[in-house]
Amino acid sequence: MNSNITYPGLEEFIINKSVEHNGVFQLHVEMERRDHQCPACGCLTSKVHDYQMQKIQHIKIFARDSFIYYKKHRYVCRDNECSKRFYESYSNGNWRY
Ligand SMILES: [Zn+2]
Repeated sequence: MNSNITYPGLEEFIINKSVEHNGVFQLHVEMERRDHQCPACGCLTSKVHDYQMQKIQHIKIFARDSFIYYKKHRYVCRDNECSKRFYESYSNGNWRY
């Protein structure tokens, strides 16, 4: 289920799912796949190697306790000799870890 609703601070994320469980609001988000620059060799890659689920306590949304489940992609450099793996970057600075 995709929705077009955007939340403050989450404009660059895709909302995959939003659920409320025991009064806690859960948002499942991921970033759109896009070109990332390899930090090792500088070439561009959009090849996803794997991902990790990251649970983040968010500033309150609608005055409820909220958690973001962030599906964080790990990219792999397309240069075979480099093959550097690295996590995607995002510009949001509001998240607490
Ligand atoms: Zn590289």
